[in-house]
Amino acid sequence: MARKPIIAGNWKMHKFQAESVELVNALMAELKPIEKTELPEVVVAPVFTSLHVVRKAMDDCGCGKVKLAAQNCYYEAQGAYTGEVSTEMVKDAGVDYVIIGHSERRQYFGETDEMINKKAKAILANDLLPIICCGETLEQREAGVTDSHIESQIRAALDGISADDVAKSVIAYEPIWAIGTGKTCDSDEANRVIAMIRNVVKSVAGEAAADAIRILYGGSVKPETIEEQMAKSDIDGALVGGASLKADSFAKIVRGAM
Ligand code: PEP
Repeated sequence: MARKPIIAGNWKMHKFQAESVELVNALMAELKPIEKTELPEVVVAPVFTSLHVVRKAMDDCGCGKVKLAAQNCYYEAQGAYTGEVSTEMVKDAGVDYVIIGHSERRQYFGETDEMINKKAKAILANDLLPIICCGETLEQREAGVTDSHIESQIRAALDGISADDVAKSVIAYEPIWAIGTGKTCDSDEANRVIAMIRNVVKSVAGEAAADAIRILYGGSVKPETIEEQMAKSDIDGALVGGASLKADSFAKIVRGAM
C-alpha cells in the first residue's frame, strides 16, 4: 500500500505571531503552482501562541495545502495544571497533528515514555494524530544500543493503542546527534533504523498497521538531502527543524519529496 509522504516543519520556539503568519503565507505562495494531489502532506508546527493565527491564515487562503501541528500538549483535558495546554485546547486552536516526545522535550522538560503514551492516547481520543518522536544519543549509538533503545521507546509509546489508531499515527526517527548539528544520518542507516521501527510496530499492532504507519526521518534535513532520503524504501518523509524556518528552503524540501 502506498503511504502518503509527510513533510513536517517544527518551528520550535521561534517566530512571533506576525512572523508566523508571514512564514505560512510565504510557504503557501511557494506551493501555489503545485497541484494539491501532487504534494506530500505538508505540516507546520508553530509555537502555541501562533497556532490560532496560522490556522486563520490557512483558512483565509483556502488552498488546503498545509496542515497545522502543535509541538506538545498535555494529556489531561483541563484542571489545575498551570502552564499546560490540553489536547482539547490545541484541537480548539485548529490543529491536525501534535508532535510528542521530541528529544528536546525529553531532555529539557522531563518528558517520559509513560507521559508520551498518555499524550498519544489523548491525541487519538480527540481525533487528532500524534507525531511520536524517538531517537538515540551519540553515546547510545557508540555503545551499540541504538536499536534496543528505540524499540523500547516505540513499545512504550504505543502501549495499549489499538491497531487502527497505530496505523493512523506518525513516528519520527530523529537521532539526537543529528538534530540541529548539520550532521545528517547516512540515509541507508536511517532507512535501516526506520525499517526496524516498522518491524517493532508489526509485532505490537500487526502487519496492516506496520504497512500503513508513516515513519519520518528527522535530523538536519536540507533541500540537498531530501531526494536521497525519500528514495529509500521505508522513509516516508521528514521532520524538519532549522530548514523549515524559511519558506524557500522548506518548499524545496517539499518539492524534493514529490
Ligand atoms: C527537529 O527539530 O526535529 C529537527 C530535526 O531539527 P533540525 O532539522 O534543525 O535538525
